[in-house]
Amino acid sequence: MTGKGHRLTGLGAAFIAAAIAKIAGLDVFLQTVSALVAAASTSLPDWLEIPYYRKGVRTGSLIKHRTYTHWPWFWVGLIYWAFSIKGPEGAAMIGAATGALTHILADAPNPIGIPWIHPRQRIRFGKKGWWRSGRYETVLVSLFTVFGVSIWVQVNPDNVFAQGLTQLTQESVKQINVVLQPLVQNFITHLSSYVNF
Ligand SMILES: [Zn+2]
Repeated sequence: MTGKGHRLTGLGAAFIAAAIAKIAGLDVFLQTVSALVAAASTSLPDWLEIPYYRKGVRTGSLIKHRTYTHWPWFWVGLIYWAFSIKGPEGAAMIGAATGALTHILADAPNPIGIPWIHPRQRIRFGKKGWWRSGRYETVLVSLFTVFGVSIWVQVNPDNVFAQGLTQLTQESVKQINVVLQPLVQNFITHLSSYVNF
């Protein structure tokens, strides 16, 4: 994923971080802190590598690219630890780790892959990875945003905004069903006209 793509996943990351903060028992203010830190942390794993630039182009980094800072279990551990720390520090840890995990997941399908098991050993999906960095960004960002918002709605069923969204989703699903049902029925009738018993 490109830098712009990573930044745009910040919206989905913010909703997920707010949901995790709520599960951790943090108040609405700290949930917001987690959300803001998450939105700002979706490039954190690349920055933590301490990259060098020559004429604006990344030429290398102190920590080898996509190794330690892209090891998901470090960030998962940080979230786990934040649950016992709580307070503003816990909120910041949840935000930073959620942003970083979002970044790592977005990197995972690329040809280089990410270190799923050993922090220095990158593993790719399939022979060449699923797709190159920069492909399907709009789709991926949209899906991730929908995913983040739906997690947040699940965790906050009493929130007015969440209730509105749930109603809207149910209504759209109903409308889609109304449109699809006759089409599917026609299709089945059409198919069965080919079958002779
Ligand atoms: Zn990266």
